[in-house]
Amino acid sequence: MKIQEYQAKQIFQKYEIPIPRGQVALNASFVRQIAEDLGDKVVVKAQVLVGGRGKAGGIRLADDPDEAEDIATEMMGMEINGFPIHKVLVEEAVDIKKELYLSIGTDRMNATPVIIASEYGGIDIEDAAEEAPEKIARIPIDPMVGLCDFQIRGLAVSIDLPRKHWKKFAQIANALWQIYQNDDASLVEINPLVISEQNGLMALDGKMTIDDNALFRHPELADLRDLDMENPSEVEAQKYGITYVHMTGNIGCLVNGAGLAMATMDILKLKGGEPANFLDIGGGAGAEKVSSALRILFSDPQVKAVLINIFGGITRCDEIAHGITAAIAEQKKLKVPLVIRLVGTNAEEGTKILEKQKLPIAHSLVEAAEKAISLSGVKKK
Ligand code: GDP
Ligand code: MN
Repeated sequence: MKIQEYQAKQIFQKYEIPIPRGQVALNASFVRQIAEDLGDKVVVKAQVLVGGRGKAGGIRLADDPDEAEDIATEMMGMEINGFPIHKVLVEEAVDIKKELYLSIGTDRMNATPVIIASEYGGIDIEDAAEEAPEKIARIPIDPMVGLCDFQIRGLAVSIDLPRKHWKKFAQIANALWQIYQNDDASLVEINPLVISEQNGLMALDGKMTIDDNALFRHPELADLRDLDMENPSEVEAQKYGITYVHMTGNIGCLVNGAGLAMATMDILKLKGGEPANFLDIGGGAGAEKVSSALRILFSDPQVKAVLINIFGGITRCDEIAHGITAAIAEQKKLKVPLVIRLVGTNAEEGTKILEKQKLPIAHSLVEAAEKAISLSGVKKK
């Protein structure tokens, strides 16, 4: 789960990471009031969960409260990457001497937390990472030992940080490490961490990703979830305990088991198709879960055919067949063709139910994939 900049900054503040003074607003007249209270130039920042707001016009400086209100009025009607702007953060504008980058993330390849710093922070950090990877310092953190002072000093040296900022830098790095651990974050990022004219080091932006699987032990963080910012189908799927990830292809997949779902997508690709999603209904799913999953697939305009691949173990194929027929019955006319492959527990009973509905059955996964691709009418890759 990602949280908004203003939410991340509230957490930063608790850990004494310096941030600019400011407040979040839901409408332009409140923006004006905040700007008046701050009493100087302000920056108006769109609160959307996408990167690159700066380049998309979502970060703007205002000289006075009038201008802040005008900017906010404009922004509230805007979208960034398809996400509407409902909230803006209004902060005192900071005089920036230099923009740095600092984060703690999870290095999955090496199975360790890693602290990353660069003297090329700001909106072009991705370019720096590609063109000059040596400009980005990465130090793995041993979770048993924690973040050590010598590691922080090593980072300060590699980003050429002037000596007078080292103490603050160490305090900020340690705070990030505390947040990373305490909140079960997979990423805590400050970009840019600026050297400001007036106040030394400051976090001008904040980004945090919290491990969804740990949310059960952080009810206060789970409340920060902003459902407007998430794929509605993924939110719907979560409600039913279905694991669903939206992708770019046209063949909807409904599978039981994560491994089988991956294999199904692989076969589709091998045969020249593109999966529209990953979808795992899990073991022992009943009819209701199957029909919810199908409803999610049918509601995706990208989906041109649906491939259902079920390996019955604890899951009973006749239950699955009932789920499929229920979902179809809800629709007056089947919007997209289905191909179904059932094997394992009660496959025969399941097949009989589906045959009554005249639904296409496939006997192997390869056959199912090929059928789904041809029924989708999308040209093979
Ligand atoms: P992002 O583009 O979504 O990462 O948004 P950021 O919050 O990182 O802002 C993008 C850029 O806007 C920063 O790198 C700064 O250059 C600039 N910026 C943000 N806040 C201020 C500010 O208070 N003063 C000035 N001068 N520039 C700012
Ligand atoms: Mn940023």
